[in-house]
Amino acid sequence: MKKKVIIVGTGLGGLCSGLLLQSKGYEVQFIEKNDRPGGRLNRFEQEGFTFDTGPSFFSMSYIFKDFMKECGLELPFRFIELDPLYSVHFPDGRIFRLNKDIKKLAEQFSDIESDFEIKMEKYLDKASALYNDTIDIVIRNNFDTKLDFFISLMKVNPVHIPVLMKTFWQQVTQYFDSHEARQIVSLVAFFLGRTPFDTMGIYSLLSNVEFRYDGYHNVEGGMYKIVEGIVDLLKSRGATFHFNKEITSVEAHNDQIIGVVDKEGKHYEGDIYLINADAALFRGRVLNRKKYSETNLRKMEWTMGYLTIYIGVNCKLPHLDLHNYFLGSNYEEYAHNVLKNPDSLQKPYYYINVVSKHNPECAPEGCESLFFVCPVPSLQYKSDWSDRDEIVDSILADFSLRIGTDIIPHIVTRTVYTPKEWEREFNLYMGSGLGLSHRMNQIGGLRPKNFDEQYHNLFYTGSSTTPGAVLPMAVISAENVCRRILNI
Ligand SMILES: Cc1cc2nc3c(=O)[nH]c(=O)nc-3n(C[C@H](O)[C@H](O)[C@H](O)COP(=O)(O)OP(=O)(O)OC[C@H]3O[C@@H](n4cnc5c(N)ncnc54)[C@H](O)[C@@H]3O)c2cc1C
Repeated sequence: MKKKVIIVGTGLGGLCSGLLLQSKGYEVQFIEKNDRPGGRLNRFEQEGFTFDTGPSFFSMSYIFKDFMKECGLELPFRFIELDPLYSVHFPDGRIFRLNKDIKKLAEQFSDIESDFEIKMEKYLDKASALYNDTIDIVIRNNFDTKLDFFISLMKVNPVHIPVLMKTFWQQVTQYFDSHEARQIVSLVAFFLGRTPFDTMGIYSLLSNVEFRYDGYHNVEGGMYKIVEGIVDLLKSRGATFHFNKEITSVEAHNDQIIGVVDKEGKHYEGDIYLINADAALFRGRVLNRKKYSETNLRKMEWTMGYLTIYIGVNCKLPHLDLHNYFLGSNYEEYAHNVLKNPDSLQKPYYYINVVSKHNPECAPEGCESLFFVCPVPSLQYKSDWSDRDEIVDSILADFSLRIGTDIIPHIVTRTVYTPKEWEREFNLYMGSGLGLSHRMNQIGGLRPKNFDEQYHNLFYTGSSTTPGAVLPMAVISAENVCRRILNI
């Protein structure tokens, strides 16, 4: 008889784990608190507009391809490489379009950063070395103990030790002199939910992913096609899904889980239990582990919150690319304040994705679907969001001014998620967008583990366990945990 795995949560980590275990002969059952799969990688439709709710950047496509190969399947969605990768708008009206071709990119810096091309190539050589020397040893690896992790770290080329002591910003400033180049190159640190000033320099390896590896892509039809494709494969091979069921407790016997129980008291039984809900929160709130008590959770370092705005407009905005950043004039001051100081929202920085740019089916003809992401303090530092409309209005006014088109009279539909909605919808701690941060004591063997400390048939998958945040890491987390499960 097939072994049965119960997967709690249908985020990308849960779905990919299910697909891989299914391909190795397991029966797979999902239990999800929401009414549709995808977790943060989700979608909603309104008045003919389609919006991806969270992720809009698709990178590291080779991770997805390798993963599907491991499952013995074809990639169930299509994507096209972007050029430029994204654009960065400064408050004085200058726009930089980030080409992967460094020669082309360097032309845009000719007036402000001497020898940009040479500096960028040097910076990227280091970023590539950091990536190549850590991907297999640290990122795609399982650690049984802290010691295991430290032994693995010692295998990393010691030439990288100085970078371990630096922040992302310090790493970037070592290579570039102009404020513009420093800001643009360090923006990618925000992808990890903190700022360049408190993200480790080692994560400059992300610049390698942007410029040297395969950059960013448009997923044809929008990001949710990733979820739809994987769910179709799962269903066609017999996986079952229970939606609107939130797991609130477990039943155990000795060192084994014998069932998980939802809010209404319904039991679900399997041989293996795989948790895709946040690995720290689940241990604290469902398993009542002291290490993850409310007091201890508060002491951990969490990523920033996101204010996300979904706007449908009945006009075209040809001035925009698929991905666009709008920066202010006080980068360092802003970055130092944005995590904890609600006043930073008086002049917010923001990112806009125009999904309809390359995917016309995501908006009615002649219209655009706009998705704004504004980094904000999580509920830990700003619990009152009664001023949310005021903040959103100020962002829309700033945006209108900067693109020279007043979008306000063109708005057909407007939806806003503050960290409160992110917390409520997806059980994210304090509405923190990417969960635990990636500081030294919360990565690798020091992050919540992908196996349970007490129950031998309980495991964890997704961004909240190893290796960490963002979509490709959720895929790797699935590969890593499945290796553990299959070795049982
Ligand atoms: C605004 C925003 C923008 C982002 N942009 C990008 C991007 O452009 N590119 C990128 O790579 N990454 C991006 N990310 C990060 C990315 O979304 C996450 O890293 C990834 O989607 C996490 O997947 P996951 O499987 O770990 O968990 P999740 O997506 O959080 O899924 C967990 C699932 O578990 C369910 N669940 C929780 N508790 C329970 C329970 N008790 N019982 C049952 N079900 C439960 C939740 O409802 C959810 O469906 C973004 C995140 C946010 C918030």
